[in-house]
Amino acid sequence: MPDFGELRILIVDDDPFMQEILDQILRQLGVCEIWKAGDGLVALEILDHAPLPIDIVLCDLDMSGMDGISCIRHLSERNFAGGILVMSGSGQRLVSSVADLVQEHRLNLLGAMSKPPNARDIADTLANYDPRIHRGNGVSSLAQHAEAFTVEQLRTGLEQGYADIVVQPQVALHDRRLVGCEVLLRWRDPDRGGISPAEVIPIAEANGLIDELTRQILQRSVRCLANFHRLGVHVRMSVNVSAMNLARTVFPDELATIVAEANLSPRDIVIEVTEGRIFDQPAVTTDVLGRLSLFGFGLSIDDFGTGYSGLEKLRHLPFTELKIDRTFVHGAAVDPSLAVILRTAVTLGRSLGMTVVAEGVEDQVDWDFLASTGCDEVQGYLVAKPMPTSDFPVWAAEWQRTAIAMQPSG
Ligand code: C2E
Ligand code: CA
Ligand code: CA
Repeated sequence: MPDFGELRILIVDDDPFMQEILDQILRQLGVCEIWKAGDGLVALEILDHAPLPIDIVLCDLDMSGMDGISCIRHLSERNFAGGILVMSGSGQRLVSSVADLVQEHRLNLLGAMSKPPNARDIADTLANYDPRIHRGNGVSSLAQHAEAFTVEQLRTGLEQGYADIVVQPQVALHDRRLVGCEVLLRWRDPDRGGISPAEVIPIAEANGLIDELTRQILQRSVRCLANFHRLGVHVRMSVNVSAMNLARTVFPDELATIVAEANLSPRDIVIEVTEGRIFDQPAVTTDVLGRLSLFGFGLSIDDFGTGYSGLEKLRHLPFTELKIDRTFVHGAAVDPSLAVILRTAVTLGRSLGMTVVAEGVEDQVDWDFLASTGCDEVQGYLVAKPMPTSDFPVWAAEWQRTAIAMQPSG
């Protein structure tokens, strides 16, 4: 068992009995410095005034006084650098949703569990804490990293051509045929290594550079797709665009030019827009989506299920594809609430005449379950991880060969 003797831990729970149980478990695990708070407000006082920084907060959710969700918000505002373990007696659903919230706040989630907790789970969770990553400056490691990538670096990188792309295949569920691929940005800074698109895109959006970044990605993408076609790999290509790109009415014309210059048809390209942002600027977006559709581009609602946009509104937009977010896909076979959401999304998409794609298919259990829902296409690590564009033609030939071999004969 790792040595927990150096850890400073704060228990936040309004139930003295539960405080006592947790205290005993922690002491059994060798923790020496334990602080206790009966609600969020007291917890924040302790965090602000403890002689040495607290490493880990064990936070109950349902408390009289300041509750756990509010406390987590305040921790985020303070850039709390330590680890957080969320606990509640109000059911696993609430625990998981607050666990997501902790990550959205860019805090370091160590674990989330229903009460009463047991010593083994707590030990496993404490073992996730790494003082080298989580301690230091009182600023969370994630926040430090985000700050490290600056708009100047983005600007230079755009000039130097650091915006590289990889592709991930999409295959039909019923016959395993390769039908398409999604382009994903890979920012390759020779000095700093790869930087996640989830970090690069928001910085580009916030600094007026998203149109240039998207233009470069689209240029590379169409060149790459034209090459695939030349090599006999006849797939379509899906490209992610930011909702901000759709706020310019000339976007469809510019895209049409880029595609025509590569001797491709708009029908070869699908534009993915994240569900949660489609209605950022409703009037322009409707205009732009309408013209993309007129030109023949495919239009996909990405991350479906995470945006709460309401199908009534989406139904009136010319989308051709529904892409179910991976948080509803992997593990749905063994999680009844995910299974319901997944089935409903597939039925909905199909009844509106859209192609339904599931992303995040990681194992055969996911695949088999999706096959039972009527989903059209899948994408995910089970089929292949995103790969360099130069590897794709060889991968595609190999996949087609085995896909055909696996078809029932006669
Ligand atoms: P997304 O559009 O939902 O892309 C799918 C993400 O899931 C990719 O992460 C991909 O690597 C990952 N993924 C694929 N299969 C699996 C799987 O089986 N399991 C799991 N756990 N993950 C899987 P990536 O490349 O880090 O991209 C993150 C997000 O960044 C994308 O999410 C998209 O929203 C954004 N993004 C990526 N490239 C671009 C781009 O060129 N333009 C814009 N505007 N956004 C982009
Ligand atoms: Ca996408
Ligand atoms: Ca997605």
